[in-house]
Amino acid sequence: MVGRGTREVGRMTEKACRECHRIVKGPVCSCGSTSTSTDWIGYVIIINPEGSEAAKRMNVNRSGRYALKVR
Ligand SMILES: [Zn+2]
Repeated sequence: MVGRGTREVGRMTEKACRECHRIVKGPVCSCGSTSTSTDWIGYVIIINPEGSEAAKRMNVNRSGRYALKVR
């Protein structure tokens, strides 16, 4: 059976690390923290941390995907 009903695709339940604000996929962040939250806002993709104002403000020194605010 294919094609009946619609699946909500828009929002993925991604988690953000409370320590470093990085978007994490598993239960543990790459910084080692297990303190993650699905309650976050502001999706930021840091490509060039050295040239990024947002990266500086967030204390980010590695490229990746981050949440602006994690609650
Ligand atoms: Zn982290």
